[in-house]
Amino acid sequence: MMETKLRVSASISLKLSNVHKHFGSETRRVEVLHDISFDMAAGQTLAITGPSGSGKSTLLHLIGTLDQPSAGSIEINGQTPFSLPEPELAKFRNQVVGFVFQDHHLLPQYSVLENVLIPTLAFKNKNGNPEKRARELLERVGLAHRLDHRPAELSGGERQRVAIARALINRPSLLLCDEPTGDLDRSTANTVASLLFELHREAQNILIAVTHSLELASRFGKRFELVEGTCVEVGINLKQNKPNA
Ligand code: ADP
Ligand code: MG
Repeated sequence: MMETKLRVSASISLKLSNVHKHFGSETRRVEVLHDISFDMAAGQTLAITGPSGSGKSTLLHLIGTLDQPSAGSIEINGQTPFSLPEPELAKFRNQVVGFVFQDHHLLPQYSVLENVLIPTLAFKNKNGNPEKRARELLERVGLAHRLDHRPAELSGGERQRVAIARALINRPSLLLCDEPTGDLDRSTANTVASLLFELHREAQNILIAVTHSLELASRFGKRFELVEGTCVEVGINLKQNKPNA
């Protein structure tokens, strides 16, 4: 049964069923993802590893509703977002998904505070005061004293902390990170990752990160490696859900 209305306040969940993705035409087809199925619930964390070109970003984009699977289905919070008409899909993505990219994607001409507020501009949220929440989040990531600074005035680690605050501003169910610490030195990467886990734990959302770093991946509850387009579960991580693990 197709759903066409945006439902609110469903509980947090993610379900991929037999997801395939290819690019290109019949003759120049690039098969990227093949028959991927898994489920996640509120509070869980997943790292996706794999060599460059294995389809990690493609998978993250599908989960974040930025691109559609070629076959199979993706359910988020019990809803099938790709059955929504485009304006409602954009609203769904804005409300349900928070992204953190390797290259922070902050807007250079805006201040730290304005950057964090940007996702609140497109769709009005009835609940709360966005500026108050933005200030609180920036305090939480240790940047309360940098509200009026431009991204160029910040270090790499500080920019990623702004990007995390921005990703969380609309209280997303899914916090999706593509190489979130890829440009940072090891010690800064560890600090930023710890912050990400802390905020995830407080929000009890679903945290998924794509990473080259096995050190970062080992901190996640569940780990998938992309092998020939499909997800293979790696090891069992006993550190799952322990604070500061
Ligand atoms: P990763 O993030 O693991 O490095 P990607 O998901 O970016 O890998 O890419 C996986 C494969 O899909 C690569 O072969 C890439 O060239 C191809 N690909 C990604 N996006 C597109 C696109 N829009 N059109 C055609 N091919 C694409
Ligand atoms: Mg990538």
